Amino acid sequence: MSGIHGNARMRVVAVVCMLLFARAAPAATPPRLVELECPKCQATHWEIDHDYRGMDGYYEPYEKRVYECPNCRHSGTGYHVLEKSPPEFFLQPHPMYPMSQADFDFWVSVLRKHFPDHPMLQKLGSGFKPNTKLPTKPGLEEAK
Ligand SMILES: [Zn+2]
Repeated sequence: MSGIHGNARMRVVAVVCMLLFARAAPAATPPRLVELECPKCQATHWEIDHDYRGMDGYYEPYEKRVYECPNCRHSGTGYHVLEKSPPEFFLQPHPMYPMSQADFDFWVSVLRKHFPDHPMLQKLGSGFKPNTKLPTKPGLEEAK
């Protein structure tokens, strides 16, 4: 028997299953900058995470997620959320979810400070900029 072909077939089956699952599973919500407070030492640090990670179909509260504190190295749950970037931040420029230049600049400064190597910073001003216009309302234009 040819083990190589068997393996290849298994790999194809696995990939097809993953694609089917990815399609059936609800998509993750957009990533957000999240400021977390350590339950042990109360130091704060920032993570980029999703409200809904879209992995196994249920919502895991931030307090039940495992993070590691850069200050005391506590690795575990119980982190308290202090602040989160708006969900539309990483989606800019988004046609339906605009953002003011001031809000955008504030969150860019947080991103730059805590994630200086983040790839979105390379796209600032070109691919990554706020949609500062009001969302277009389809219906209204057509009614004229
Ligand atoms: Zn800590």
